[in-house]
Amino acid sequence: MKYSLLSLSLVLSTMAFSQAKFAQLDQELPTANSYRTASGAPGHAYYQQKADYKMNLVLDDAKQRLDGFETITYTNNSPDRLDYLWLQLDQNIYDENSDTKLIEVEKMENFKSVGDLRKRDFKYDGGFKIEQITSTSGQKLSYFINKTMLRIDLSKPLLPGQSISFQIKWWYNINDRMQVGGRSGYEYFETDQNYLYTIAQFFPRMCVYNDVTGWQNKQFLGRGEFTLPFGDYEVSLTVPADHIVAATGECQNYASILTPEQRKRYEQAKKSNSPVLIVTQAEAEAAEKNKSSQTKTWVYKAQNVRDFAFATSRKFIWDAQNQTVGSKNVLCMSYYPKEGNPLWERYSTKLVAHTIKTYSKYTIDYPYPVAISVHSKWIGMEYPMICFNGGRPEADGTYSEGEKYGMWGVIIHEVGHNFFPMIINSDERQWTWMDEGLNTFVQYLTEQEWERGYPSRRGPAYLIADYMRGDKSGISPIMTNSESIKQFGNNAYGKPATALNILRETIMGRELFDYAFKTYCERWAFKHPTPADFFRTMEDASAVDLDWFWRAWFYSTDNVDIALTDVKWFQLNTQNPALEKAFLQNKDAQKDAFIGDTRNKTAITTTVNEKDANIDDFYAKRDLYKVDALDEKAYQSFLSKTSPEDLAYLNAGKQLYELSFENIGGIVMPLIIEATFADGSTKVERIPAEIWRIEEQKVSKVFIYDKEVVSFRLDPFLETADTDLDNNTWPRQLQPTRYQLYKQEQTRENPMQRQQRLEQMQRGN
Ligand SMILES: [Zn+2]
Repeated sequence: MKYSLLSLSLVLSTMAFSQAKFAQLDQELPTANSYRTASGAPGHAYYQQKADYKMNLVLDDAKQRLDGFETITYTNNSPDRLDYLWLQLDQNIYDENSDTKLIEVEKMENFKSVGDLRKRDFKYDGGFKIEQITSTSGQKLSYFINKTMLRIDLSKPLLPGQSISFQIKWWYNINDRMQVGGRSGYEYFETDQNYLYTIAQFFPRMCVYNDVTGWQNKQFLGRGEFTLPFGDYEVSLTVPADHIVAATGECQNYASILTPEQRKRYEQAKKSNSPVLIVTQAEAEAAEKNKSSQTKTWVYKAQNVRDFAFATSRKFIWDAQNQTVGSKNVLCMSYYPKEGNPLWERYSTKLVAHTIKTYSKYTIDYPYPVAISVHSKWIGMEYPMICFNGGRPEADGTYSEGEKYGMWGVIIHEVGHNFFPMIINSDERQWTWMDEGLNTFVQYLTEQEWERGYPSRRGPAYLIADYMRGDKSGISPIMTNSESIKQFGNNAYGKPATALNILRETIMGRELFDYAFKTYCERWAFKHPTPADFFRTMEDASAVDLDWFWRAWFYSTDNVDIALTDVKWFQLNTQNPALEKAFLQNKDAQKDAFIGDTRNKTAITTTVNEKDANIDDFYAKRDLYKVDALDEKAYQSFLSKTSPEDLAYLNAGKQLYELSFENIGGIVMPLIIEATFADGSTKVERIPAEIWRIEEQKVSKVFIYDKEVVSFRLDPFLETADTDLDNNTWPRQLQPTRYQLYKQEQTRENPMQRQQRLEQMQRGN
């Protein structure tokens, strides 16, 4: 219900203000209060709840089942009395009757194979099996499960400042990720008959209670992600003895888990600035064959995290290196099966180290002791200190360029999520852009520092033009609830990342933007920010009024299409009759000739006035361009009345250009205009967006130069996401297209395989 009210006010205010692109955002933003200030910072009464977890987990590798027992200690830092607690049961989206399946819009035409239908009809006994919920002394607590949400009714209210501890025992069948998909699950490897588990959303987790939503207990439907409070975790994890475990936090018992040789390598890795193997491929391959029936228990601790995830398999190769951030050492690690090589051993850990270093520069110093990347086919998914990433080469070890950049991009992106939303802990269930958009923006900066000219998929302004040009019924404003977003990738990742890039490169400049963005990150690290906190901080720290920008880019589906519709050229009339009459004479001489006049020159041998001298009078005979004494006298009088400075200016040969612009797309933007002069030199003019503040559809601007301009171009550096570049030039410029008469040959071969074929052919010759 909260959400329908919110979207209603959004619609009303968009209507009311549709004619005022520069109106302040007062109607759209919540009123500032003592929890959140009008400057965008946490207020003096800001609070957040704390949820600490102690968990014992047991993995049954034969049944792919996870058993858990957790003790949650929940601390009420709010000023409110709580009569019940809400927890999230994310696994319940795999319940047979889950809403997630029921609300899927379907058409027969979308099922294109038996495989599609079998997947649709796939039955799997998923969802949490809650065995008991008790107090720490073993008394049963009353509770109610509403789909993906669990309410625990307290026998007496939890008062401000109080804590409560309780225990939950549960289990569930782990999903086959290759069959049913999902952010968590297992992959089964047919060839060696082993499982690789990447496990998350696996335990009943506290909902967030705060000043913005009360209990954030909006059901988990599958797309809108997670909203979680911070806390401390102690987790012991029992798995087959030959498994290697990766998890959120620091392992407390490597001394009893690892072999002496592995411990030696681990210590070496902590001092190395390039990856060191702790478990080699040969060791992982030996474990794949032997399959221990014993178990081992790995113990982890993590402080001030909003979640816990882990991966476990006997297939894991494991490498690590150190990365210093500020004065701290961070151990960067990767875990991958042999199927990930050669890509993973070569790049994963280096990408982790580069990512935390670069993000730390633009946001806050990475605060955790470890940063982990785990290879997990197809997906990319983030948790505190650990993430699961795709990027798998072909079985022959070759890979396409797309696979390489896909793997680089996903690792940078998912490791980057440590900052958004794991530390700068926004409400993902409500706003996807606050973590995905901000993260995709810093991902772009990080990619550009990894490789010069890195072909980033999202970030540069021109890359969003196709999406923004599209049919408006197929796109949503960025400020749309996570579940209802159309074109998810473009809208929640690409567009906000692009908007931030435009702020940085064009509207604010790098220095002001970087300062304000860092201020936002520092203010909201280990807290729960909202969109208003972000919008307000960016303005508060920079003295740039960005309300028009948020309105256009975040609240509307308008696009940028500004046209250079007209250019008028003027030179100053000097009043000097000798110059001005010569100018007119020259202009007259250059006039185009009418076809009839040209033909009549020869077609008509003589006219009447050529034969009869009495036809031509004063007007026919006078010389329009002759300067006479009266002209001279008038000019002398003008000279005597005009200051030397004005005269000098009049005679300086100034070239004046009046440019007309039209806002076709709806979004007003700065006008960036490049003038190219007759001598080949250029000049760039930058006019702030506020030129549109009164007239939002059409504006004009005069430019004064000492030299003649041969052409003008709008947005010459592709920085405004203008969706139609054809109307940006004067005079209009044509670009040829290569017209394809022959069909392109389709090939499944990747370029590395083609190279091998080429080398084979050359050896054969
Ligand atoms: Zn993401």
